[in-house]
Amino acid sequence: MEATIDAIFPAGRFDKFLMLIDGNRQMYDFMGSYVYFPLYKIVLEKDIERLEKAIVKCREPDAGSVDECIHILNDQGEYDRFLVSIEDCHDSRHCHIEFQNISYGERKLSRMNEKCFVMQDFLTVSGKVYFEYKMDQDMFRMFWMDYEQVIELYHLPLDEWVAEVIQKEMVTGRDRDIFEAFCKALRQVEKIQYFSFHGNIITKGGTPDAYKIKFISRMHNKQKMVIGTWSVINEQTGNDVDDFVEGTQVDSMTRILNKKAITEYGESAVSAGGQVAIVMMDVDNFKTLNDTYGHLFGDKVIMAVAEVIKKTVGENGAAGRVGGDEFMLVIRDFGDEVGLRNYLRTIKTNVAALFQDKLGINRISCSIGASRSGIDSDQYKDLVRIADKALYIAKQKGKNRFIIYLEEKHGRFHMADEGYDMMEIRDSFYSEKDLNRWNALLADVVLYGSSRLEPLLEHAVVTLTIDRLIVLWGKELSMTAISSMGHQGTEKERTLLENQTYLELFQGDMYMITNTNMLEFTLPDAYGVFRDNGVRSVMQHLLRDMDGNLAGMVLAEECVNLKHFPKLAVQLFENMSKIINAVLLKERVMPIAAGERKIQ
Ligand code: GH3
Ligand code: MG
Repeated sequence: MEATIDAIFPAGRFDKFLMLIDGNRQMYDFMGSYVYFPLYKIVLEKDIERLEKAIVKCREPDAGSVDECIHILNDQGEYDRFLVSIEDCHDSRHCHIEFQNISYGERKLSRMNEKCFVMQDFLTVSGKVYFEYKMDQDMFRMFWMDYEQVIELYHLPLDEWVAEVIQKEMVTGRDRDIFEAFCKALRQVEKIQYFSFHGNIITKGGTPDAYKIKFISRMHNKQKMVIGTWSVINEQTGNDVDDFVEGTQVDSMTRILNKKAITEYGESAVSAGGQVAIVMMDVDNFKTLNDTYGHLFGDKVIMAVAEVIKKTVGENGAAGRVGGDEFMLVIRDFGDEVGLRNYLRTIKTNVAALFQDKLGINRISCSIGASRSGIDSDQYKDLVRIADKALYIAKQKGKNRFIIYLEEKHGRFHMADEGYDMMEIRDSFYSEKDLNRWNALLADVVLYGSSRLEPLLEHAVVTLTIDRLIVLWGKELSMTAISSMGHQGTEKERTLLENQTYLELFQGDMYMITNTNMLEFTLPDAYGVFRDNGVRSVMQHLLRDMDGNLAGMVLAEECVNLKHFPKLAVQLFENMSKIINAVLLKERVMPIAAGERKIQ
């Protein structure tokens, strides 16, 4: 029965008892011995009512063709799902019905998928790079396979590719002629051809590799196409280097792309102009996981998380590991925001399901930030920064969540410094919304006095992405806003105000240090304060009384990572400290009524 459906679908005219009056050959094949019975005989009982309703509906004026999905008995004695299209014949007696076997289509598709997966596995295991050249479109594409992921190295018009290779000197000088002959042959080839030359076409940079290229032209969909393999060979043995992608493209622990390869993949995906999401992801509290269950278990978690993201992104992009517990995904053609949310939710849920038997309720969680091309930016670098900032917001908001960047919600980002290092980039990004709020809170402090200091400090901690902010003023005021770290108390910090050698480090009233360990030998006392309070990096601003004598200090402290404070952060902090100083001074001269003061 299946074979007939391949060509034209069975279709025929039925009377009001649903007896076949006439039909095409496929229809008679399809009905077989049931041709002498009403159609009801082979329709699944629970579908009969729907079929009848569809017939009534098709008789309504202007109904046209009505589609319904019903189960019909096949010649194997099983019910297949059919899409039936019913149309009134306008003779008030007959209707025309066409049957399309969906189950057959599904089975065929699943067989094709299965074949496809096996082919993908073969291509992956062979560890080669492949290329194709579509003559009609003049497009050259070079890629390698990582199971269902297709990692494109190049995808552009042949001339542009050749120009890039020559301009960047990716072919060894003495082999230029062979390379040119190879390019010429691509456009003419009729039979299998072989070429060998040296270059840096696959692993860009470093010592040139020896390539062996084999290709053939084929007709696909009436188009002439060249397809070939591009192997890296070991010149000593003449054998293929089996797994050259290992180390150069793939992270050896997780077998997903390494930072360099996912970056190249993302760059080319964004510059190709299609729809792309850049997703940054970091495992939550991974250090605790390592400390509690051991480093080996930590490794297992990293591998399992890599597997989850790779499976989720599937053929629609690529997944890479960009740091210890940090991953990046490039997702193509995800559809709308809901489509992207579905990807991210799948990752979040599947990560939470890992090692549940071992961890019980202490599940693994991750934080995710995403940006979208065409919406947030068309520059790969900006998209990475925005996704990274969204990840940071996800962490700040309490982890275990995904955030898709939305300008209306998270504000426009300003880039203060051009940083290269990921941490620097993360810290040199400020949302317009955060900055506006900062200004509003500062204005509140000026208007209403130090009782409004607390919300300002809390907001400043989040905006500067630091761990705590402390204001020390005389003996009476000691305020702390904390993001996530505990604090031992401010008494130790107060001693800094009496440490003359330390105070000499200040320029004007400002001092900052990215690594407090640097003070260990030169200023052991100050170092001791930072060590005891777990401070890695700090910005400080002195506060003064009316006569210019030291009266206090504002401290911005980072405890987990070393932090480079970008220019904008320093300016914001300095400005805020000066305003706080002015407000506190004014209150000392003209104290506000005690009832209005929240902080003492
Ligand atoms: P957060 O929720 O803020 O991300 O906290 P975290 O504890 O996960 O902190 P972070 O992401 O900064 O820590 C990453 C840690 O991952 C630091 C390092 O000890 C550990 N790590 C890095 N590479 C590996 C690795 O290959 N294997 C294991 N087991 N641990 C690693
Ligand atoms: Mg982490």
